[in-house]
Parts: sequence; C-alpha cells; structure tokens
Amino acid sequence: MIEANNPSLKSWIEIEENSDFPIQNLPFGIYSTKKKSKRVGIAIGSKIIDLHELANAGMLESTEVFPAVFRQESLNPFMELGKDATRKVRNKVSQLLRASNTDIKGQAGLKKKILDKQSDAIMHLPVKIGDYTDFYSSKEHATNVGTMFRDPANALLPNWLYIPVGYHGRASSIITTEQDIVRPKGQQKPKDDEPPTFGACKLLDFELEMAFITYEGKPLGDSIDVNEAEDYMFGMCLFNDWSARDIQKWEYVPLGPFLAKNFASSMSPWIVTMDALEPFRCETPAQSPKPFEYLQFSGKKSFDIKLEMYIQPENGKENCVTKSNFKYMYWNQSQQLAHHSVNGCNIKCGDLMGSGTISGPTPDSYGSMLELSWKGTKPITLSDGSERKFILDGDTVIERGYCENESVRVGFGEVRTKILPTK
Ligand code: MN
Repeated sequence: MIEANNPSLKSWIEIEENSDFPIQNLPFGIYSTKKKSKRVGIAIGSKIIDLHELANAGMLESTEVFPAVFRQESLNPFMELGKDATRKVRNKVSQLLRASNTDIKGQAGLKKKILDKQSDAIMHLPVKIGDYTDFYSSKEHATNVGTMFRDPANALLPNWLYIPVGYHGRASSIITTEQDIVRPKGQQKPKDDEPPTFGACKLLDFELEMAFITYEGKPLGDSIDVNEAEDYMFGMCLFNDWSARDIQKWEYVPLGPFLAKNFASSMSPWIVTMDALEPFRCETPAQSPKPFEYLQFSGKKSFDIKLEMYIQPENGKENCVTKSNFKYMYWNQSQQLAHHSVNGCNIKCGDLMGSGTISGPTPDSYGSMLELSWKGTKPITLSDGSERKFILDGDTVIERGYCENESVRVGFGEVRTKILPTK
C-alpha cells in the first residue's frame, strides 16, 4: 500500500466530514489569491497548501524538486519531471501534514505563509493542454445514441466492440470551473425535408465524462503497452464535454464532430493523482469479443468513481439530474492509451484524454440530456416546476465526483459552468 493512502492517517489541519480532500487525497492544482500570483497548490480540507512557499522554506528538499517548478502557470513543468518526482512530492506533503509531524505545525509564521483558504483562491486551468482526445467508451451511451439515431436492432456500429473509438478535439477551448460560456451559434437542419437554418444552438447539452492527464509518453513511432499505460498517467479530473446536438447532427458526416464540440469543455481544477485512486480500483465490464492482443490487460484497470450532474437554474436551486459511475466504461483508460499510441502516435506531457460520455445501465444514470430526455421526448421536471429537455440560458451545470469506501472518501470537487445567451 502507498503510505500516503493509509486510511488511518489524520492531519493537524481540521478537515470537515465528507470533505473531498482528506489527507489521503492531496490533489494538485494551480491557484492565485489577491496577494499571490499563480502557483501550484495541494487541496486539503477547505485549505490549499502553497507548494512554492513550502519548497522555499526547504520543506521539500528531500524530493529534489526545485521551488521554481511550483511558481508556474500550469502543472506542466512539475509533470515533466515524471512520476517518481510527483509521487515523492505527494508523499512528502502527506508526511508534513500528519497529526504527529511538527515541521510545519510547530511554526506559526511558516504555517501562515503556506496555508490559504480555498474560499480566498481563484482556481485556474491546471494544465497547459497540448492535445485533447475524446473517446466514446461507454457501451450504454453508444447503444443509446445508436438506438435513437440509427437502428435499435443494430445500435452499436460494427467497429465499436473492437476499437476504443475516439477523435481529436480542440485544446484551446478547455476551461475550468466558474468560467461562463456563451451559447454557440451554427448551422442546423431541424427538418429533414427543408433546407438548413442558421442561429443559436437550441439543443445545448452536457456530457458527463472524466479525463486523464498524461506524462511525457514515448517518441513518435513507439507505442505504449496496455500494461504499462498507467505509468504515463499523472491523474484524473471531472470533465464536462459540452455539445451542441443540433449543430452536431448536421455537420458530423463524414469527418465527425467539429463546431458542435469545440466551443467549450469544462475540466475540474484539482487533478487527483492515480496514486490517490489506488484503493478504488475495480474490474471493468467483461469484453466480448476478445479484444486484439495489444488491448488485452491484466489486473483491475478501472476505478469506482461516483459521478453526478446538477442543473441550477438562474437564482434557483441545484437539481441532481443523473448519477453515473466511471466503472461503467467498457474500454478502460489503459486500453485507450494503448490504442492511441499503437500506430506510433506520440503522447506528450499535458495531453488530456476524455473518457467519452459515461452512461450507466438505468435511465437515471445516463450521462447526457440527449439520453435523459430521450431526444427531447421525455422532459425532466426541476424542483421549481420548470422543465428541461436540454440546457437553457442562465442555467449552471455542475459536475461532481468522488470515491468512497468504509474508511475514506477521495473526491474531485466540482466543475461549474454557467450558460450565457448567444452573442
Ligand atoms: Mn465527449
């Protein structure tokens, strides 16, 4: 067991019950405050540990990571040091924060310097994302979409059970929490027998996803083996991959999604390390037919992560509209990375790999409004009595996720995005 994951550990920092950020988590992010420029922090309870100040005080010397690595606008310079270095830093911070350790807790001045309140912090996009790839790895989601738009008898396309299907998205429009987005405009074709129209998207949707962030991969021409794939994963975050369904339907033939997807995707600001997720490993669904050899893995490659999506109307209350789980994914992340690089494609430090919409087996666990409202035929009623088939102007969509067992809860926090009217 990784010592930093020990469920019996307690911190000298007071942590609220049900916090997503106990001492067993220690996720990394980029934050600033009124007095501090952007830097690397670790979330614990409702506080943030300032890693730049911690390193400046000599507290991270044993990790051999220089303080300058933490005074950056992204986690990339830190991730470029590789898994050994990022793991050492998490383990060292875990030691420093334990109830029995007096290195920080005994020094009032230092304590003040390195502790910030999350409520005083602005969270920034944690990673300078080079390339963004989105997969399509939930069988339930692919089946639902195929049933709605093609043929219920042949809902999955013939390649789906052989290939972890994916496409290259756009990195520039990935945002983090508390950043509003503007309803996109574009071409649509609402009626089959009439010409296309142009205007604001009417079928704006979320996609309940997660994503993983990569370390530097292998050079162009080399492939990452499915059983070594996790060595190249830094950590995971929540991911809401916004989609304009009406624009998507008209534009996607023959080359796939374009403007229906690239106007925004929202990622949560704290990256939970693969180490912290270790206690929550679980089996993936059985795969039949047997995948090609390069996709055959051993061990448990998925994680039990509870996922929720909420809609909050302007000045209204939050409504949970779906509860799903990362473990429903048919193709796991190791298979995704092995597939992505099997042709020799090079993976770079700071790439983001989206899971694809994660739908569960029951209608209350579907990962998009498209499925929840079944193409708009079954509106959802919110607590204020209003109905939603898709997302309206003024709505805030909030994604949350956490792992939980008998002894510990390791969470991702949230990512929250408000929709502004079209320009
Ligand atoms: Mn997606």
